[in-house]
Amino acid sequence: MTAYSDKIEQMLEYDRQHLWHPYTSMTNPLPVYPVVAADGVRIRLADGRELIDGMASWWSVIHGYNNPILTEALQQQARDFSHVMFGGLTHEPAVQLAQILVDNSPAGLDKVFLCDSGSVAVEVAMKMAMQYQYARAKEGKNRFLTIRSGYHGDTFHAMSVCDPETGMHQIYRGVLPEYFFADAPACRFHDTWDERDIDSFAHLIEQHHHQLCAVILEPIVQGAGGMRFYHPNYLARVRELCDRYDVLLIADEIATGFGRSGELFACDHAAVVPDILCLGKALTGGYMTLAAVLATTEIAETISSSEPGVFMHGPTFMGNPLACSVAVASVSLLLKSDWRNTIGHLEQEISRGLEPCCDLTTVEEVRVLGAIGVVQMKKPVAMATIQQRFVDRGVWVRPFGKLVYIMPPYCMNDADIKTLTAAIYEVVALEK
Ligand SMILES: *Cc1c(COP(=O)(O)O)cnc(C)c1O
Repeated sequence: MTAYSDKIEQMLEYDRQHLWHPYTSMTNPLPVYPVVAADGVRIRLADGRELIDGMASWWSVIHGYNNPILTEALQQQARDFSHVMFGGLTHEPAVQLAQILVDNSPAGLDKVFLCDSGSVAVEVAMKMAMQYQYARAKEGKNRFLTIRSGYHGDTFHAMSVCDPETGMHQIYRGVLPEYFFADAPACRFHDTWDERDIDSFAHLIEQHHHQLCAVILEPIVQGAGGMRFYHPNYLARVRELCDRYDVLLIADEIATGFGRSGELFACDHAAVVPDILCLGKALTGGYMTLAAVLATTEIAETISSSEPGVFMHGPTFMGNPLACSVAVASVSLLLKSDWRNTIGHLEQEISRGLEPCCDLTTVEEVRVLGAIGVVQMKKPVAMATIQQRFVDRGVWVRPFGKLVYIMPPYCMNDADIKTLTAAIYEVVALEK
């Protein structure tokens, strides 16, 4: 062995002994692959192999790795200052970001709360909804309604509205608040709308609205809870029912924000404006963690107009200038681009590439929306072998359960989409 591969081996051994990876055993971890560089849509491993990235590092790297414009924004800001507390101080990166978000998100969402990560954004949104009802002297309205198959993050309140079967409700029983779950929408994005699809939700909100401060859901695309695409009319009905019963609507667009589903925000598919909007993941183009919670003026003014007169949240790294600078660069770059055509084209190419999978006996269904492609298997995949097979074919795809899915960087070209989808076909054909 060379000195270099020796060093890599030692690093991997230390990783195995000491580092938690997401949702991974500490005693029997699956292999992890050491990365030394990433550029454009390619991740380079320590042994020199290059992988075409189908995951955009979990929805976030929309402009590809090492984007010169984003890197320059980050470096420039690091030369000026990397961080100052946001209590009592402010700066241009935060103000610019707020302006871009207010100007381009659904109309009426004019107040911006910057925070650390998607899960924290969900916590902030839920606290905001609760504090809004508290400020209106409706303390009884302090519970949430959501839909099954959702995913909202890993912190406590976020967990409480994740799908109760695939989520972590069992482990944290007794501590996790128990909220209301409507059936997951059954009517798919491209189906003809069936009015009965909203029955379960309508029933629950009608029955419990006196206790409900807000509905929280992922609009149109349910991500980590099942990669499902539901009908825009479902979301439109949810908005109507929330209005009728005086319940706020929180849209968790942490995965879908910034074009992924084919519209800039998934709410736009139904022309719905939520009362509170959570953004994260692609916000910084995958450079660093940052999230934003947008709310209406009415919510902000109501919270501010009664005791304690302030919103009770303020993280240490709130409005981090490095993260805000790179977010301004990323969102500007997206908005300047012909993103609608780019995503439309990706949708077409991903559909074309994945279509042959429909004929495989191991495959239950193939679905594509925007720059998201999903191959749902009949049985859960064997992670250790499938991961290796993808890497052997020069692509990075990380399935979970029965779902083999991709959401590539928007800058991926047709040839790379072909390689990526052809690898998926070959690999899922080998599953039992
Ligand atoms: C990823 C995700 C979250 C959690 O974001 P983190 O940054 O991982 O905390 C919340 N909601 C949705 C819809 C997500 O996809």
